[in-house]
Amino acid sequence: MKILVSVKRVIDYNVKVRVKSDNSGVDLSNVKMSMNPFDEIAVEEAVRLKEAGVATEVIVVSAGVAQAQETLRTALAIGADRAILIDSNEELQPLVVAKLLKALVEKEQPQLVILGKQAIDDDSNQTGQMLAALANLPQATFASKVVVADGRANVSREVDGGAETLSLKLPAVITTDLRLNEPRYVTLPNIMKAKKKPLETIKPADLGVDVAPRLKTLKVAEPPKRSAGVKVPDVKTLVEKLKTEAKVL
Ligand code: AMP
Repeated sequence: MKILVSVKRVIDYNVKVRVKSDNSGVDLSNVKMSMNPFDEIAVEEAVRLKEAGVATEVIVVSAGVAQAQETLRTALAIGADRAILIDSNEELQPLVVAKLLKALVEKEQPQLVILGKQAIDDDSNQTGQMLAALANLPQATFASKVVVADGRANVSREVDGGAETLSLKLPAVITTDLRLNEPRYVTLPNIMKAKKKPLETIKPADLGVDVAPRLKTLKVAEPPKRSAGVKVPDVKTLVEKLKTEAKVL
């Protein structure tokens, strides 16, 4: 059983994001980039399924600039078998990524496609759902547990007020939530091994996908600065201020 996992190169989650002075987007120059955290969880889950003897091959794919190869090498170091870079300098929006992944699904015929539930840069939470619709595959989003057996994936997902378990007929699309697993640390020997694993580079045109953006970003702005707080001498004054100034009591 083949598993296809998508990994996106995003600004590292520890970095304080700066907005460009012309408000056209966020500043990516000299900023540390890493694998989207939800995608790390997706790779870990696929590798665990391989280690458990459920899967035979884990293929990782990233769409974006040439530097996304580093992200793919990290995925290979976690334990994926081979990588595909869909090389493009365009801004790739979720619909385009979903179309690219659909074309790859047709080519590679994986039984399971695992994506992150959202990319922490655009926070779209759209790609997995769009892929499932375009490829006409069953989907379980926000997975917190995945069990694969007898041609089905049983997926637990957290919903308001509890957990829900879905049984999907494979092939299927799953998106990961934070609680699914804790990705392993990548060790130096595995980083060295990953350098020798196959990494193929293709262009969106090879998959017959037009990557032109359909949405236009009008403006990106910093959140408004919070005004400074005040210290009050005692509870009586606090209650008074909440009544007369904040008017919340
Ligand atoms: P989004 O819909 O943008 O929030 O992204 C959801 C998931 O889709 C991510 O966690 C990735 O697994 C996948 N994805 C989105 N964009 C890309 C990309 N450019 N390359 C590879 N995977 C992507």
